Amino acid sequence: MSINDTIARLVRPEVLGLETYSVPDSTGLIKLDANENPFPWPAGIVQAWLEVLREIQVNRYPDANPHRLKQRVCEAMAIPAGMDVLFGNGSDELIQIILMAVARPGSRVLAPTPTFSMYEIVARSVGMEFIAVPLSDDYGLDPAAFSTAMETHRPAVTFLAYPNTPTGNLFADEDVEAVLRQSDGLVVVDEAYFVFTDATFLRHLDRFDNLLVLRSFSKLGLAGLRLGFLIGNPAWLAEFDKVRLPYNISSLTQASAQFALANKAFLDQQVRRIRAERERLFQALDGMPGIRAWPSEANFILFQVQATDAGRVYDALYTAGVLVKNLDGIGGVPRGCLRVAVGTAEENTTFLQALQAIV
Ligand SMILES: *Cc1c(COP(=O)(O)O)cnc(C)c1O
Repeated sequence: MSINDTIARLVRPEVLGLETYSVPDSTGLIKLDANENPFPWPAGIVQAWLEVLREIQVNRYPDANPHRLKQRVCEAMAIPAGMDVLFGNGSDELIQIILMAVARPGSRVLAPTPTFSMYEIVARSVGMEFIAVPLSDDYGLDPAAFSTAMETHRPAVTFLAYPNTPTGNLFADEDVEAVLRQSDGLVVVDEAYFVFTDATFLRHLDRFDNLLVLRSFSKLGLAGLRLGFLIGNPAWLAEFDKVRLPYNISSLTQASAQFALANKAFLDQQVRRIRAERERLFQALDGMPGIRAWPSEANFILFQVQATDAGRVYDALYTAGVLVKNLDGIGGVPRGCLRVAVGTAEENTTFLQALQAIV
């Protein structure tokens, strides 16, 4: 028997059908493809951080239940009283933990499309069926389509990215609340971009038993640490905690995140700069002939090149040293769409000049 026959016999068909999540090589490029915070840490902060890291005993396992980190997060993020927090190795891991806890044959995950790709990838990898409901033309939730889909498929979990990616908008509060009311499954409001908007569903947690709010430190500026957290009723989190692998948050991440939160002012300032640059970038794209851009409540902007091929624009930007995300051909947005993260002022100017020269 060849190895391929054995693989085909043993690996589940859903897994055989998946593709590896690919990340393009960004060496030497202006990296505007992954919605990261573009600013490095100030030198003084790095010095103080290294002093903290010096104390870590890497021969020991990390704290299995990071209480001190949890306390800091609850204070810094104004987590409502009575709600608990569960940490994940990135919020990606929490998506996996939630679905591992509820997956059973025939159970379903529902999300609008287009949205964050991991909902579908994780759903399929744990053997759940994924149902995609197209957004309306203005990228809002389509209440009728959503209602029908929920009635038909009775999803165990519905994911709503708020703001959504790659569209950048917030869904209307009343539409999200309608989903929460209609669903007899869990509804996860994914606030990965919460620092770039003033809206949140945290205050609705005590109104809806089936609501969970998912957040991440990645887009705030700690993507390399891999830390996300799930906020919700302790009864839910206690079940998810059983599926979580022990020690999923490394000592380095725990200490670094605590340090970052204790020195949060510099991150807040970076966020303010990103929000200001987002407006400048949007105005410039919006005013560029041949470009259509959508307003964003996140740290990226979705735009469409109208007279030319998006693949060509992506390649030309790449050649000019700028890496963006090519979304041409994904469902739910018009042909010719690309997504660009908000970079430093200098990076954004380089991007805009390169784009102008191409279109
Ligand atoms: C980036 C992103 C995540 C993943 O965050 P990590 O904490 O880095 O795993 C989750 N959801 C959405 C909508 C995102 O854009």
